[in-house]
Formats: sequence, structure tokens, C-alpha cells
Amino acid sequence: MSIIAANLQAVEATIEAAVQAAGRQRSDVQLLAVSKTFPAEAVLEAMAAGQGAFGENYLQEALEKIAHVARAQPDAKVEWHFIGPIQSNKTRPIASSFDWVHTVERLKIAQRLSEQRPPELGPLNICLQVNISGEASKSGASEAELPELARAVAQLPNLRLRGLMAIPERATDGEQQRAAFARLRKLSDALRADGLALDTLSMGMSGDMDAAIAEGATIVRIGSAIFGARHYD
Ligand SMILES: *Cc1c(COP(=O)(O)O)cnc(C)c1O
Repeated sequence: MSIIAANLQAVEATIEAAVQAAGRQRSDVQLLAVSKTFPAEAVLEAMAAGQGAFGENYLQEALEKIAHVARAQPDAKVEWHFIGPIQSNKTRPIASSFDWVHTVERLKIAQRLSEQRPPELGPLNICLQVNISGEASKSGASEAELPELARAVAQLPNLRLRGLMAIPERATDGEQQRAAFARLRKLSDALRADGLALDTLSMGMSGDMDAAIAEGATIVRIGSAIFGARHYD
């Protein structure tokens, strides 16, 4: 078995244990394999092991990888999720090459993605990134601006607002990790109570996926636990 296949098995076991401990179903949580900085060959290896959804942060690198994978496996069903910072002059290739975008934090970006989404692809799935730890340097909409942003994005014709995403401050303590994820879940609950049909909480990475699943994550974004340590980031 390849290292990537073995790592995927180990991650799967972690997810299953966390799901069971939380009294949830395995099908409630999607594993997004974050392949940034790793070559297309690593993606193909993960695909051979049954992985079908991949997250990328850097647009140019992602576009090359997506094209490479499409040439190598033209019939494979692969889902691509953009999870990196978005520059407003780069929205067009994001709108046409990805199935999901997790990092929308401004209405202007959402409007461009909606305008530029090729209609034949169907709506682009969107998560709004929230700055859950309130750090000035981190990206994401503030909790205060979230309700208005969510209502506006939900109106855009070629997008489907699915939910919220966060990258909390790094914490090794499980309680601290859970508190941040619980905050995102409560924000999502409030928006749902307000009438928005959200079904996605994108939260949890290699170091804190159990805490995220305990607090209701529906997508965990896992990089290094699958592909190994990154050499640049
Ligand atoms: C890199 C990255 C991940 C994966 O992080 P790991 O700690 O390697 O699992 C998840 N989400 C985002 C937004 C990332 O940039």
C-alpha cells in the first residue's frame, strides 16, 4: 500500500472514531483532502485509494493540477474545492474550474463569482469564511458583518450558499479547539433560524479534526495527515 493510501486509512479511522463519539453518522462528514504544494501524482494516488474531493489554496498551482488530473483520469469524478485567499482579479478561473469555494469573505467577490460562473456547470457551492478568533491579521468576515453578507450572498443566482468556514487560532488544548468550533456552529444555527438553508460547516484540519467533528463539522479539510509535511505553505 502507498503511504498516501495508508495515511488515508488512518485519517478515516480518526474520523470514524470522532463521528461515533459524537453520536453522528459517517456520512455526515466529508473528507476534503488538501493537496496544496503536492504534485498531481499525489492526487492521482489518493484517487486510486478512493478519495474524490480535493482542496487547493493557490490558483495557478491548482489549475495546472486540475488539468493534469483531467488528462490522466478523464472519466473520474473529482470534486475541486478552492480554500485559499481570493484576489478579485482571479475570480473567473475559480468560478469555472472549481465546484466549491470555502473562502468568500466579501460580497464583491461573491458577486463576481456569480457573474462569472458558467451556467452549464450549475451553481457554485459557497462557504463564507468567518474570522472566528477575531484576530486582525486573519482573513474572514467578522461575526458582526456575517448576517448581512450571508443574506446578500444567498440571493446571488449562480451561487449556492452552503455554510460557514473557519480556521481558528491554533490551539493544542482540546477544550479550546472545541470552543472555537462551537462558535462557528452557533453562528450557523443563528443564520438557519433566520431562514437561510445552510447545511455545511467547513472546519477541522489535521491537528483538530476530532474537536471539529464533535462540534458538528460536515467537511474536514485534511492536508498533512494525508500527504505528509509541506515544504512551503
Ligand atoms: C493547508 C490548509 C488545510 C490543511 O491543513 P493541515 O494542517 O495540513 O491538515 C486546511 N484548510 C486550509 C484553509 C488550509 O490552507
